[in-house]
Amino acid sequence: MDCLFCKILAGEIPSAKVYENQWVYAFRDINPQAPVHVLVIPKTHIASADGINAENSAAVAHIFEAIPEIAKVEGLVNGYRVITNCGEDGCQSVKHLHFHVLGGKKLPEKMG
Ligand code: AMP
Repeated sequence: MDCLFCKILAGEIPSAKVYENQWVYAFRDINPQAPVHVLVIPKTHIASADGINAENSAAVAHIFEAIPEIAKVEGLVNGYRVITNCGEDGCQSVKHLHFHVLGGKKLPEKMG
């Protein structure tokens, strides 16, 4: 499958790992939009939030269990933002479900 994040998971493309467990991998965004910008992905391929269903939603629970751990490691004591872009109108550029964890400063209130 020609998926950038599957290639990162396979070690075919390098990434700056932040966190990993059996279900989840997290790494630094190559083009950070905040002092801390981490991408959290499931190890199974799910194309986007629109591909979440009863069979695969445990992967999402694992991601949201990992996020507080990642926030702790990254020192995000004042809070952070979690975003997933979905599809064309959501400006999703990589078709493997990922959650952006942004923080390390006071983020802008508006998201468009
Ligand atoms: P999205 O636009 O929501 O699909 O987010 C995709 C994100 O992946 C963007 O923020 C990119 O900067 C990031 N990205 C693309 N290629 C890489 C890479 N090789 N390593 C880390 N982050 C990447």
